[in-house]
Amino acid sequence: MDPSRQLNMNSGDRAAAAATCVFCRIIRGEIPAHRIYEDEAVLAFLDVGPVVTGHTLVVPKTHYQDIFEIPDQIIAGVSSRLPRLARAVAAATHVSACHILVNNGREAMQSVPHLHYHIIPRQAGDGFNVPWHPGRLPGERAGELVAAIAGALRREA
Ligand code: AMP
Repeated sequence: MDPSRQLNMNSGDRAAAAATCVFCRIIRGEIPAHRIYEDEAVLAFLDVGPVVTGHTLVVPKTHYQDIFEIPDQIIAGVSSRLPRLARAVAAATHVSACHILVNNGREAMQSVPHLHYHIIPRQAGDGFNVPWHPGRLPGERAGELVAAIAGALRREA
């Protein structure tokens, strides 16, 4: 990815993206949603295509496409709401577990280009399945990866 994308998106680009974004339109009240919670930073609403009962989305009120471009302080504010929202979703759906996940980018199954957290309640036998097939991490490859990621981090700082 282009690490300068966050810097390159100016306020005009963001406003243009927000004009047609489905989640921005929900935030503005232009299209309906089953709204659960709202404050100055976030909106939480039911997913219209729930994978299980109670599937909830939490979105920042400002349009950011994904985690690559959202500023640290904005995502910190959004994620600070997650524990309370997750507890409420779990309580309402009578479960004691949930996924909290972000599909980040098209290849990672993101279909709506406005950053959002999924809160997905889980219980035994609910029929939802996330295919997860652990591979192997050879020591030499791990060393290369650590060096590459640490190098990228230093370049960002
Ligand atoms: P993702 O694939 O991670 O981008 O997830 C997008 C989610 O948004 C999907 O689970 C959709 O069902 C959900 N979604 C799309 N449009 C709406 C809408 N108008 N209201 C509520 N949820 C929506």
